[in-house]
Amino acid sequence: MDSIIQRITQGKFWQFHGGIHPPEQKTLTSNKPIKQLPLPKQLIIPLQQHIGCQGDLLVNVGDKVLKGQALTQSSNPMAVPIHAPTSGIISAIKKSVIAHPSGLSELCVFIDVDGEDTWKSREICQDFTKLTQQQIIKKIADAGIAGMGGAGFPTHIKVNTKPEINFLIINAAECEPYITADDLLMCEQSEAIVDGIRILDKLLNPAFILIGIENNKPRAIKALQNATKMFEKINVCVLPTKYPTGGEKQLIKALTGKEIKSGSLPIHSGIVVQNIATCFAISDAIINDIPLIKRVVTLTGQALNKPQNVWALLGTPVKYLLQQTGFTAEHNSLITSPPVIMGGPLMGFSILNELVPIVKTSNCILAPNKAEMPSAFDNNSNEVECIRCGQCSDVCPSQLLPQELQWSAKAKDHQQLIKLNLFDCIDCGACAYVCPSQIPLVQYYRIAKAEIRQQQQLDLKAEKAKSRFEARKLRLEKEKIARAEKHKKAAAARKIAMSKRSADGGTANSAVAAALARVKAKKKENSQPSVPENNAQPTSDSSTASASNDVNDVNDKKSQVKAAIARAKAKKQEKNKVNDSIITNNTTVNTVTNLPASISDENKPVDELSVSSSDKQKSASDIKQENHSADNKKAKIAAAVAKAKANAKAKAKKEQEQQLEIEHNKTLKPTNEESE
Ligand code: SF4
Ligand code: SF4
Repeated sequence: MDSIIQRITQGKFWQFHGGIHPPEQKTLTSNKPIKQLPLPKQLIIPLQQHIGCQGDLLVNVGDKVLKGQALTQSSNPMAVPIHAPTSGIISAIKKSVIAHPSGLSELCVFIDVDGEDTWKSREICQDFTKLTQQQIIKKIADAGIAGMGGAGFPTHIKVNTKPEINFLIINAAECEPYITADDLLMCEQSEAIVDGIRILDKLLNPAFILIGIENNKPRAIKALQNATKMFEKINVCVLPTKYPTGGEKQLIKALTGKEIKSGSLPIHSGIVVQNIATCFAISDAIINDIPLIKRVVTLTGQALNKPQNVWALLGTPVKYLLQQTGFTAEHNSLITSPPVIMGGPLMGFSILNELVPIVKTSNCILAPNKAEMPSAFDNNSNEVECIRCGQCSDVCPSQLLPQELQWSAKAKDHQQLIKLNLFDCIDCGACAYVCPSQIPLVQYYRIAKAEIRQQQQLDLKAEKAKSRFEARKLRLEKEKIARAEKHKKAAAARKIAMSKRSADGGTANSAVAAALARVKAKKKENSQPSVPENNAQPTSDSSTASASNDVNDVNDKKSQVKAAIARAKAKKQEKNKVNDSIITNNTTVNTVTNLPASISDENKPVDELSVSSSDKQKSASDIKQENHSADNKKAKIAAAVAKAKANAKAKAKKEQEQQLEIEHNKTLKPTNEESE
């Protein structure tokens, strides 16, 4: 550590591998002050302008917002809020093209500027040294500050570290050609920048604070030296100009000699790096209560009449900025050749939509003419096959093999690209700059990185889906086993119940056999000749009693028939008596029986017969004939009576059999139910 400080105090630094020395082209803007621009009519503010996730919207269309008012918020630490850069009305919240190489669209808040530039209420901090660390970190988070050097990592996370910090490095290198935004900011806002560095010192308490700045910014160096002369802990380290000194790992190497290995972070070596513009934003947030709503943007290139650094409100459309600098392209269209570039000529990307807004990481808009057109953006360049010259490897600051990377990128061999440490590439473009075959190497790497990230996301989704599938399969398997176990237990229970039932089965069977035996016995009894009148014996059970009652009814009918027969016999005897009396006396009978003509009349009582005087005159032969006729009638009556008697007997027998059958069925039914 001491040797490092000794070297630094002696102005001796380390060299990082590779690097190039392209024409700087900084003088286009480096000698002009930062310009304040009139308010644009409309601002387009993307919800996400940093690494992480976007916050939740706090406003709706039609809302009036004040300058500095938060538009989003979130409890997620990786969500950095955005704020209204000026007062106005929310005219839309919709997707719009954002500043990204892919030209993709994201959700944006459109503010129609009212021109009044009315601030929200603010609280100026007179002495930030009295604030606690947590108060400072909260203010930084609430101000929506993210790394303004290009990465856009949330600052409140980067400064909230537990490990001991040896070096706090302030990146003031601004190594890319054309860009002078940080240079001018240091020239004009060195005091505020140093306040920001002191706030970081309070948070991180590093052993040393090193400001790394290239020697091509003499005014800025002087301004910083003046602003820091009261603070021994802060060292302004003037480095030789070489691109890309401003790369995080390259700056660390240049200042401390430490190598940050692939896959490792500076914090693992006790080093935190912050951009100089971020320091200014921290100062503005903590002391002036101004969130990150503006930044310095270099508007440069030979296609502009008045290239200059400007204070640009976040959300300002690029076209508006170009109009302020006399953009000379035909019809002011952004679809130009050469294209308008957001960023520098080596690390920037072309923009084709005039609505692309300035965001927290936008430091430069380059509008080159054809003469100064960077080769990486020349669509008409004649790319030829790699000649394996190795110049790209020589200049690569990350010590990669750019030519092999481009072959694997063209072959879409993602595994090989990962093996070649593609993600250590910082997109510096040094390899493409030196390539004699005019291969736009960085474009291939960017596309390959995007494809790999997309594939990784798909793989992650597939992995999650596979996990869900495996979990479901396991659950179904468990349920199947549980069901089989349940069925097994139920079968065992059934088996036990059946064996128990079969053990009890003898009793039930014997009961059924007894019932059947009783029924058979009754049937046999009923099939025998009719029961003698006075021999009907009452049975012990109710069915037998019922049968007995029926038998009694039959007997009653028999008795009635017998009584009728008896009455008929008595009538016959009486008639015979009368006839005998007539025959014996052989006299004129004064009175004779007036026999009815029909058989049915024979049933009438004899005393009902009337005797007429004319009949008394009948001869004895006539009387005899009449008696014979009467005898025939009696015989007929007797036959009818016998027939009725036989019918009654048959009917009684039939009814008795039916009754016995009913009783038999009644006896069987409980037995059947029991068997069910
Ligand atoms: S500089 Fe270009 S031509 Fe030379 S090895 Fe690299 S990719 Fe091939
Ligand atoms: S763009 Fe990547 S591969 Fe090319 S020189 Fe820079 S770091 Fe190396």
